[in-house]
Amino acid sequence: MNEQLKLEILEKIEAYDTVIISRHIRPDGDAVGSTMGFANILRDTYPEKKVFLTDEDFSDYLAFCGGEDVVPEEAYKDALLIVIDTGTRARISNKNYTLAKEIIKIDHHIEADPYGNLNWVEDFRSSACEMIADFCVTFKHRLKVSPKAATYIYMGMVTDSGRFRFEGVTGETMRLAGAMLEYGVDYETLFAHLYVEDFSSFKLKSYVYDHIRISENGVASIYMDAEAQEKLGLTLEAASSVVSELSDIRGSLIWVAFIDNTKKGNIRVRLRSRFLGINDLAIKYHGGGHNMAAGATVYSKEEMESLIRDADALLGEYKRTHGGWL
Ligand code: AMP
Repeated sequence: MNEQLKLEILEKIEAYDTVIISRHIRPDGDAVGSTMGFANILRDTYPEKKVFLTDEDFSDYLAFCGGEDVVPEEAYKDALLIVIDTGTRARISNKNYTLAKEIIKIDHHIEADPYGNLNWVEDFRSSACEMIADFCVTFKHRLKVSPKAATYIYMGMVTDSGRFRFEGVTGETMRLAGAMLEYGVDYETLFAHLYVEDFSSFKLKSYVYDHIRISENGVASIYMDAEAQEKLGLTLEAASSVVSELSDIRGSLIWVAFIDNTKKGNIRVRLRSRFLGINDLAIKYHGGGHNMAAGATVYSKEEMESLIRDADALLGEYKRTHGGWL
């Protein structure tokens, strides 16, 4: 798939002395894994090149992955910038991205903004890390993939696919994950970092279970207002993680978390679904993403209620016209 494009990307990388790698704001496991993994591979394969990894944003729960570099502004002039896992330029976590000589976009979101000089976008991939794994396998005789790099890539594949459960996971996903395991992934340590929780997080779960709302047709939602976040001592990121607590309720094929973002004065929305898509709903509310996992923003409680009503109508229509859902 896209063999010619991948070759062009490798040749571009080989032609530059300086490569800068960036990802999206509010980085998740896929954004961190793909960029850390790719940076490690380029550093090991081309020790003579300067390889920087930028990030102006940070997620506490991924602190174990390590830090990023400070990139001097003058480095951009002759640099190739590779942006991974970032659908639109507004989401690039690098305010200097326009200074680079050329940009390569590597992404698995539905294409909405082909901002690169080269754009390798495959929206059928379960993660951007799956694309990086594919790149490693395609050029296995030219790239050095250490166990550490493979572990980063495997991390993104695991987290973005919900441990290989979500739509988009294919035989190819598993073959590529297998290829990463063969490079020597330390999955015991990785899974402990990702999934062992402090006891305090169970207080949050109990708050969430007490405050879930279920609409007439089954939309599950939770509103983490500023007061609750303060009471429970949560960062915005930690408060946002509650969306995953709503995922396994029978009949709730759409679930939504609303999180007060006091710094920005708006409400962050995280939408998830099974069997039916919610991307169009997210687009209506100033967002977007994937068919079954998207984000949006609302600016008032009225708009929050309106989103819930729309989600409820969507789910009602789906249930009327489909059987067999759970
Ligand atoms: P999140 O709920 O933030 O994990 O987002 C789920 C998916 O939707 C991710 O792949 C994001 O890249 C995408 N996404 C989140 N927020 C937005 C937004 N405001 N606009 C476009 N895409 C978004």
